[in-house]
Formats: sequence, C-alpha cells, structure tokens
Amino acid sequence: MADSTTNVPPPPHTIFDTILVLDFGSQYTHLITRRLRELSIYSEMLPCTQKISELSFKPKGIILSGGPYSVYWDDAPHVDPAVFEMGVPILGICYGLQEIAWHSDQKNVVAGEKREYGHAILNVQKHSGKTAHVDALFAGLEEDMDVWMSHGDKLSQRPAGFVTVAASENAPYAGIAHEEKEWFGIQFHPEVTHTKKGTPLIKNFAVSICGAKQDWTMDAFVGKEIDRIRALVGPKGQVIGAVSGGVDSTVAAKLMHEAIGDRFHAIMVDNGVLRLNEAKQVKETLTAGLGINLTVIDASDRFLDLLAGVKDDPEKKRKIIGNTFIEIFQEKAKEIAAAAKGSANEGEIEWLLQGTLYPDVIESISFKGPSATIKTHHNVGGLLEGMHLKLIEPLRELFKDEVRALGTQLGIPEDLVWRHPFPGPGLAIRIIGEVTRDQVRIAQQADFIFIDEIKKAGYYKQISQAYAALLPVKAVGVMGDKRVHAQVIALRAVETTDFMTADVFDFPTKFLSKVSTRIVNEVDGVCRVLYEVTSKPPGTIEME
Ligand code: GLN
Repeated sequence: MADSTTNVPPPPHTIFDTILVLDFGSQYTHLITRRLRELSIYSEMLPCTQKISELSFKPKGIILSGGPYSVYWDDAPHVDPAVFEMGVPILGICYGLQEIAWHSDQKNVVAGEKREYGHAILNVQKHSGKTAHVDALFAGLEEDMDVWMSHGDKLSQRPAGFVTVAASENAPYAGIAHEEKEWFGIQFHPEVTHTKKGTPLIKNFAVSICGAKQDWTMDAFVGKEIDRIRALVGPKGQVIGAVSGGVDSTVAAKLMHEAIGDRFHAIMVDNGVLRLNEAKQVKETLTAGLGINLTVIDASDRFLDLLAGVKDDPEKKRKIIGNTFIEIFQEKAKEIAAAAKGSANEGEIEWLLQGTLYPDVIESISFKGPSATIKTHHNVGGLLEGMHLKLIEPLRELFKDEVRALGTQLGIPEDLVWRHPFPGPGLAIRIIGEVTRDQVRIAQQADFIFIDEIKKAGYYKQISQAYAALLPVKAVGVMGDKRVHAQVIALRAVETTDFMTADVFDFPTKFLSKVSTRIVNEVDGVCRVLYEVTSKPPGTIEME
C-alpha cells in the first residue's frame, strides 16, 4: 500500500508483521520491543492512550506493558476498549495483566498484602487438551520457571472465562489464559534478563500464538528504506546533513548516498577538539572508502579562540561548541544550497538529515502519566532557520544494534561500526579546566595511546566507552634522574548496555601499567596516570 499522493513506499509496520506494544509507563517497556526485534520480529511501541481507530496499521498481536499505577485508581490509564474487539491475540504483562482482569470486572484487582520484587519461582500449570491454545504461552518451558516480579497489586480472583496457567507462592494467578480468545496475562516480566526463559516465552506469544513472521532483518530493511528515501526526496531533491565519524551519522550518510548519490551533501566540522587525526581519517573513510559527497570544514581556530579563557564552566564550553557548530553548519549549508540552485539537473536543498534512533522516539512518546507534560525533544527548529528544511530520519525505526547491523550490511568498516560514542563537545569536556592548543595536544596523544593499547589487547568491543582525560593539576615525578612537575592523566573505561548505569571496566594491573609507561614516556607534559574507578551513578561517564 503506497501513499497515494506521493508514491512513497509505506513504513515497516505496513510491510512487516508487527507486534504492537502499548506502553503504560513501565521502565522496561522498551525492552519488550527490543526482545521482539532480537527475534527478528518487527515491533513498535505506542502510548497506552492510542485510539485504535487512529492506528494506521493492523498489528499481528498486542502486548500491554507494565506500569507504575494501580488499575483501580480513579485516574489510572486504560487502553481503548476497542483493543479487545480487534480479534488479535493480547498479552498483558504485570499492569497489563491487571488491565485485562480489570477490563473483565473491576473487582478483580486489589492491593496485595505483600509487595513482590525480585526473583520468584513460577509453577506452570498445563491443561493438556482442554482448550486448544491455553498452554501455548508456556509451551516448551520448564514446569518451574525462575522469573522476576515487580508488583504490589494482584488479582483477587480469576476473571470469568480464564484458566490459570501459572502460579507463584505470592501470586496465585501469575499466569492466566482465556479459554476461547487468545488473551494471556502474566504477573512477571519476561522482557528483563533476570527472567531466565523470558525470550522463549515472548517468542511463543509472537510466533506461535500471533503467527508473526521472523523476517525483520537489516537485509530486508535496507532495500525498502532506500526506495522510501528516493521516493520522498524525488528525482532532483537534495539533502544536507552533519557527520561526525560516529556510527549513527555514518550509517545514515551511507544510506543517503546509496539512495541519492551526490545529491546528499555531508558536512563535517573540525572543531579542534576531535581525537588525534580524526578529521583526516573520517574524510578518508567517508569519501575514498564509502564514496560519500563530504565537505570537511577546518574551523579549529575559530573554536579554540572562543574557548580560550573558559575555565570553570563546562556548560559554557558546551554552549560555545554547540552554537559555533550550528553557525558554521548553517553558513556551509547556505553555500551548498546556493551552488546547487544554479546546477542544471538538481533541485533545491529541501531536506535535513537527522540520525534519530528508535530509543529517541520511544523516549518522546512513552507514557509519562496522566498529569505529565510532554517533554520537548531536542530542538532542531533553530537550526537552519530561514531555509525551511524538512527532516529526513532514515534510522528512526532502528535500535543501536540494528544500526550496527545495517552499517555492516552497507559495507562500513568494522572499526567504525563498533566505534565508542564520542561527545559533541569532544575533548573539551575531557580537558578539565581551560582548553588550550597544548592541552588538546596532550589529551589527544594520551587518548590515542590508551585506545591503541585497548585495541591491541582485544578489549575494545567489550568496553562501551573509553578515553583519557586531562586533569588541571600538576604532580611531582622523576624522569631521567630529574625532578619534573607535570600534569596528570585520568583513564576511564566503562561497560554499560544503556549508558544510564555503567560499571568500571576491570583491566589487569599489568595492562594499566603498560599504558601508563607509554603515556608518560611519549606524551610531553605528563608525569602520572590514574585509573578512574567511579561507577555510574554516582559518576557520569564523561568528566564534565
Ligand atoms: N502498579 C502495579 C502493581 O504494583 C503494576 C506494577 C508493574 O506493572 N510492574 O502491581
């Protein structure tokens, strides 16, 4: 089904079998969507307030998430009752289970005497043969399952028409299934990794019960997305976008290049606080390697001159870098637009590429509660004022691991696909205190040695982010029998899955000594190296 006015091919939820997750505000809702995607099943999340009549696609099944409310509160959120009239299978998780029970009779859910957080043993109850489908959710799973619970309310009675398919000591109706309709509810959370067999259970629901095909792969996505970009932009349309050398902007840029060739204009701004040789390397990889039409602007002096004298105010550093970046990008974009206008077979620049990922979308649409105001998202409105650009966001449906898979699919080199995140303000927030050209040199050289050793030792992929920071203090050392008074480098390396919490990477002392020796010997101005051992929280991943 193509968009009739523009012939733009439809988005993934109309092409791929889709499981719709309705969000009641649980902190785990996005994990349900992720687990499904990991099973190669396309899934999207929408807030629980979604009107079914306004849904633009027909899902193969619906999952109702957990949530922090109690269904019996006056202002508790509830799904559109039309959800129960759609004739598709439904799985309720925690609050979702309680919502299904409450829908059938408002007396079914009460506050439990005991709250239940953490591990529980679930006893699966089979009904072999009694009704066709009730055992399908737990098919192939053990009779005693290790599950993870997080609830205070419980079902006081079994809703009419349902049988019990699982129970725990604290929750006698920890799993229920409707005898005729394919409606299921579970009190525990299969989406968290603490529930050992959570993914097979989600697979049972999506594949066996809903009949969803496991055909969501980057191989299947890439061609369709390229067609979509071509149709959106049209035969002459042009797009500009910023690239940083990071995985998201590189994958987005390569995808644009595949779709519209040189009508995509990538701009990279060297702000003088990039990693050692970064601008040069990115230019080589993106142009010679990937064929992308890229303009690199060396604006180091402009940034570094503005940063001079800024000492104790990291916010000010961020603002200077952010605002100057926008100014430069805007100047260049106008130049490119003016040049493009005159060319015979090309149209005007109408589009701005954004590397938005699905977690950003989830964050902006997730259900924040009846009284919460919607948070305004990263505002790109001010950017390119007066150019009236439309946004194009080819990675909008993808999680980070999918972006990486897509990158590999598009022939982007492995080391770029697995690159650690690098902040927009760059080394400026890893140089504590004033950013001078000499401080940048020290930070760049130390960081290069640390990352080089990490790669040689084979730790790079295990670590989520690593860098060397430069502290604004001097310490005493002896070098070549001479007392020196020089600066201190702090190394940081963390492991994390979501960057919300992080653990310190556990290097062998020998490795750290080796890095320290190299930095002190090779980087002028440094006489000591420390390893930073603060987890997040309380520490943040970056220093400033
Ligand atoms: N608030 C509900 C309860 O405490 C649901 C909790 C949840 O979904 N995790 O039972």
